[in-house]
Amino acid sequence: MRNLPLPSRSDDREHLRKAIRTYANKGAVLGHDITPAEFEDVIAIYDRYDADLAQPSDFLKGANLPATLRGAIHTAYDTTQDGRRLGVIRELVSKGVDLCPICGIAPAVELDHFLPRSVFSPLAIFTHNLVPLCHSCNHAKLAGFAAGVDGGAPHPYYDLLPDVEFVQAEVEIKNNALWVRFSIDLNAALPVGLALRLHAQMQALDLDTRYQKELNTYISGHAIALHLSFSAGGSNAVRSFLELQARYESGRFYRNHWRPVLLQALAAYPLFVDGGFSTVLPVPQDIRDDMFVMNAVPLA
Ligand SMILES: [Zn+2]
Repeated sequence: MRNLPLPSRSDDREHLRKAIRTYANKGAVLGHDITPAEFEDVIAIYDRYDADLAQPSDFLKGANLPATLRGAIHTAYDTTQDGRRLGVIRELVSKGVDLCPICGIAPAVELDHFLPRSVFSPLAIFTHNLVPLCHSCNHAKLAGFAAGVDGGAPHPYYDLLPDVEFVQAEVEIKNNALWVRFSIDLNAALPVGLALRLHAQMQALDLDTRYQKELNTYISGHAIALHLSFSAGGSNAVRSFLELQARYESGRFYRNHWRPVLLQALAAYPLFVDGGFSTVLPVPQDIRDDMFVMNAVPLA
């Protein structure tokens, strides 16, 4: 998991103004005509959400608001789809977010209500309660993993992660295949309770299994570089390559992204760097022949 920058709140009032309105339907007036006092009540709920760092409470459910107002905010979320009335909210929250901040595998194409809108309807269009996630993480979270239990799911905006390693990978070569197990280091220097919450999230979203599925495709992308390194400088060169690639991907992604974590674990696994990589990633003879030719050509 990584943190995301907290979206701006400067357009909160504009979003609400666009969201809450009355409309005629078959002769009846539906929606809600919001009063200035009610407007401030909703803003007060937003302020409390920020002050309590998204910890759920009855106050955030807005029981003091008219049901028609809660319903109007709840329904307005549906118009955050691209090109619709409140599309600007989705745009604002998703801006600059490429990969899912939880798994780092797939693009963040959906918005998650950190506190579910079915219960916390006043927060349905509040930017700080909307987190861009990939479909798999959002779907798994909808299936039952939510905030509130033992501190609940870590919040990508509020649970600030210090610059320490907390994702770890155990690697092993078995039956000519690479076996990897990803986990959270429960002894990492994280704020109290956060390691356990990250661990619970990893289990609830089945991240280890999902990383396994990515593993072979990803590592095969480094096959030729591993073989070239080995033929040029043996185990030390393979280790250096993996460490450099880990540094590069750590900067390209982030420190606890599964890819650099895996590369570092491989660099520290003697069996892999001593040639075991070639049983996992065998290269056909014709490519091997051409690799030797390539290694023999001095670089300009
Ligand atoms: Zn995800």
